[in-house]
Formats: sequence, structure tokens, C-alpha cells
Amino acid sequence: MLRRGARVAVAALLAGCAAAPYTRRSQLILISPEEENKLGARAFQQVLGKSHVDGRAQVNGAVEAVGQRLARVAERPDYKWRFVAIDDPKQQNAFCLPGGKVAVYTGIFPLAESTNGLAVVLGHEIAHALARHGAERMSQGLVAQAGGSLLGAWLGGGPGPNTILAAYGLGAQLGVLLPYSRTQESEADHIGLLLMARAGYDPRGALAFWQRMERAAGGAPPEFLSTHPSHGTREQQIQAWLPEAMRYYEASAHAGVEPLPAIAGATPRSDRAHEFFTCNPFRAGVSAPFLVLSIPYDATG
Ligand SMILES: [Zn+2]
Repeated sequence: MLRRGARVAVAALLAGCAAAPYTRRSQLILISPEEENKLGARAFQQVLGKSHVDGRAQVNGAVEAVGQRLARVAERPDYKWRFVAIDDPKQQNAFCLPGGKVAVYTGIFPLAESTNGLAVVLGHEIAHALARHGAERMSQGLVAQAGGSLLGAWLGGGPGPNTILAAYGLGAQLGVLLPYSRTQESEADHIGLLLMARAGYDPRGALAFWQRMERAAGGAPPEFLSTHPSHGTREQQIQAWLPEAMRYYEASAHAGVEPLPAIAGATPRSDRAHEFFTCNPFRAGVSAPFLVLSIPYDATG
């Protein structure tokens, strides 16, 4: 009988190492893509069941058009892409779950301004899923908890949809904050920039978008308190990646730039928890170790 810690080590060896697309950063991931995609699909249904899917053709059409262009360059034939607009003008957020399940809250439309700005948002979110950042976080949680209750849950049937929701940045909806690490955020910025450029969206629009976000945030928390890069760091990094992105953009069939439809009730200022700004655990009064240890596991799997 192996000790629990040893069992995790064996699982890690069996799973092997993964590498993020484009950046080739090596990752320890203990969950198979098939398992992850299945969970993503179930979690997406769960979110849609609790949300008001936007019925306006113009709103959905913009999300679908930008999303499908990005999906074409994502090189994931195993993904069954879905793009949905959620009618929630107070929520400035978007997400992509494994398997290509994407939702955009209408509150982000005024900040995105155009289809090009929407490509920045969607590129960043799709990049988190392509680089399997949620699976990586779940795996880190398992290793950190070797011998603990998470492992028991894991061996007893594996993680459920709530786990994947928390790991893919939707923790606020579940009352659990589980932000991406700063490395993952920077990587999503980088990969997202290249994806949008390959899809024919002008990557220079990313700088303008993040500047609008900075104004909307009304002064972001200092970098050492936040898992997100500070705006200054983010803009410097994007500047550094732009020459690479521009080569993709120049070689691509350019997408037109269309203004997004106006959203009644949306405020340009952030007032609700969302992936882009509220990854500051200290502000939320939650201690950092809690973030690592609180990955929820569904007993039902
Ligand atoms: Zn992110």
C-alpha cells in the first residue's frame, strides 16, 4: 500500500509534463484534456442555467463572430466551441472553460468598445483555456495537499464542475477566490495577443484596451498585492511582445473593426467582482494559503 504522498508522486509521473502553447513553458498537469473538457462542458451548463443568456442578435452576433475567428486559429480540433453573451451589464467579465465554452458578460462591452477590443478580451480568456491554466492550478492544489482531503476526493471520483469553475477564474460566483497566478496572467496576455493577431485583429488595440481598463479600475492595487501584473508591467510586456504579434497580424486576413452595440445600464467603472480586477485576495479578506487549499471538490464527481 503506497503512502498517499507517494501515490501523488506516482500520478505525477504517469501524467507526465505538459507544455503551454507558444511559450513552451513546462507545466505539471495531472488531469487529462478529455476529463478537463468534459468538466468544462458540465460547468458551462451550470453557469448558463443560472445566467440570463442575451437574446439580442447584435450582441450575440458580435461575440460569435469574434469568437469564431479566434477559434479558427486556436488549433484545438477536440474543442466544441460555443460563444454566448450573458445579459449582465454590471459584470465586466468573460471566461473560457476547457473544451471551448466561452461566455462574455455584456458589462464589458463599453470597455471593449469594438470587435477589436472584444478580441483582446476573448483572446486572453481563450489563452487561459488553451494553456490549461485551470488544470495546472488544480494539479498544484493536489500536490500541495498530498495526503490531505483533496487527494481523498480525487481518488474517490475526481473533481467536479465546481472545481473547474473555480480553477478557471469563476470563483467569485461560487464564493471562492481562486485567482490565476501572475505567471499565468502574463502568459494569457502573451498568447492572447498572438491569437488575436493571427485571427486578423490589430494587436496594438490591446494596449488601448488595458489603458481603458486601468482608468475603469480607478487605480489598481499595487502589484505585490495582486496576482495580476500591474498595469505598467502589463503594458511594458505587451510592448515587448508586439513585434512578434505584428508579424502574425501582417500575415493574416484582417478582420474589420465594428463598434459594439451600446449596453444600457453598463457602467465604465468596475463595481462587481470579476476576473480582470478583483484577483486581490487581501482586499477580499482572504488569506493566501486559503486560496491554494480551498479548491472545492464535488463529492458527486
Ligand atoms: Zn486572466
